[in-house]
Amino acid sequence: MEQNERRLLRLGIHVKYYNPLQSTINRIMLMDGFVNAHAHLDRANTITPDSLKDSSLGLQEKWTYVDKIKRTSSVWDYKERITDALMMQKFYNTRYICSFIDIDPIADYTALTGASFAKDEFDQQEIKLIIASQTLKGVLNKAPRILIEDVLDTVDIIGSLPAADEGRESEHLDVVLNWAKQTGKRVHVHVDQNNRPTEKETELLARKTIEHGLESRVTAVHGISIACHPKKYREELYKMCVDADLTFICCPSAWIDHRRSEVLSPIHNSITPVDELLERGLRVAIGSDNICDIYKPFCNGDMINELRLLIDSCRIYNEDELINIAVTNGLEVLGMMD
Ligand SMILES: [Zn+2]
Repeated sequence: MEQNERRLLRLGIHVKYYNPLQSTINRIMLMDGFVNAHAHLDRANTITPDSLKDSSLGLQEKWTYVDKIKRTSSVWDYKERITDALMMQKFYNTRYICSFIDIDPIADYTALTGASFAKDEFDQQEIKLIIASQTLKGVLNKAPRILIEDVLDTVDIIGSLPAADEGRESEHLDVVLNWAKQTGKRVHVHVDQNNRPTEKETELLARKTIEHGLESRVTAVHGISIACHPKKYREELYKMCVDADLTFICCPSAWIDHRRSEVLSPIHNSITPVDELLERGLRVAIGSDNICDIYKPFCNGDMINELRLLIDSCRIYNEDELINIAVTNGLEVLGMMD
């Protein structure tokens, strides 16, 4: 303890009164900082005063809106933006960050090459970039599928967006989970992002994880719509997630902006129901998601803000659990403990 106090003093941290947030942050600092388990750094810092006006577009519209930036960005543009974003993450005391990087017929390998250069530059310093493949154009059409298949050795984690193959989400998962079996790599899957009671992607992911025998290797990103379902459904879903040993990444500010609607569902905050997941023994990590882009123009990637939002929206007041979320579980889902 004495040694910890000396280290804190060297960092300029002196706490006179008990402040649970500061106490938690101090402990995270003693573990060398946050693990930001989910981001999209290839579009970080692309917001402009002009594009800010379009930031109220819907999610699916934004998936194609970013094509403009992807078509006009060079490898060096990507490298510079990602490098700058990594420097800011370092400033915010992030030690590891996982970024999805678009690999599709629009971006081709431009974003991936830029990200790889940025990763190499930072690997010797105090922040490590882990690259996951983003499947924004799906994996069922041949062109995007081949592009990703050819670089499975290059990416650290196999990423997935089943909704990009709308109506064929099950087949999409078969493709990416087969890649995981072939390569032994972990899989991160965007699920249940739309805060709608009709969405059941987390359930599909848990079933597919078990079907493919990939228990403990698959992570669900977001899972906002889980909380739209009645308690009975949620309890059944959580049991299935335990059976699949599914892990989760919550990006607290990412979907807090869901618009009000007249659809009726159980009252909930538009965030992963982390409190319920923890109560069932499921492990949750934290991510910033988009930083200064068309999706989240005002998100600066400060992980203390993300943690605060999670604490307040899900009432998670246990310091040990918060440390697990901010560091330990992040290391697990990024494969740093394999
Ligand atoms: Zn994402």
